[in-house]
Amino acid sequence: MIHKNKSWNEKEKDRITIRNNWYVKDIRKLLNEIDTDPKKEKRTQRHICKLCFYKTVISMQAFTDTQCGKCDKKMTFSNSDVNLLCDDCAEDSNSCSHCGGEMN
Ligand SMILES: [Zn+2]
Ligand SMILES: [Zn+2]
Repeated sequence: MIHKNKSWNEKEKDRITIRNNWYVKDIRKLLNEIDTDPKKEKRTQRHICKLCFYKTVISMQAFTDTQCGKCDKKMTFSNSDVNLLCDDCAEDSNSCSHCGGEMN
């Protein structure tokens, strides 16, 4: 396999560094929010675990149809970042509707 690297220069270095700093800031913010759970009520109402709720999700803005991974019920989302479980299945199994992991 051949991987063609993009060309690199000082300007590119600055761009990467800015992006890295943003990323670190984002991780810090995420960890802080996971620790303090400032929107717990809204989060548990929606059956979303801490990680899925607070992480910044970059998704395509396009209506996406999918089905619940447990009961096959049809679900529609306004972007490509779809849930794995419908609300009923998430509630029944005390799982996150987004990733299917344990609610916390
Ligand atoms: Zn379901
Ligand atoms: Zn989750």
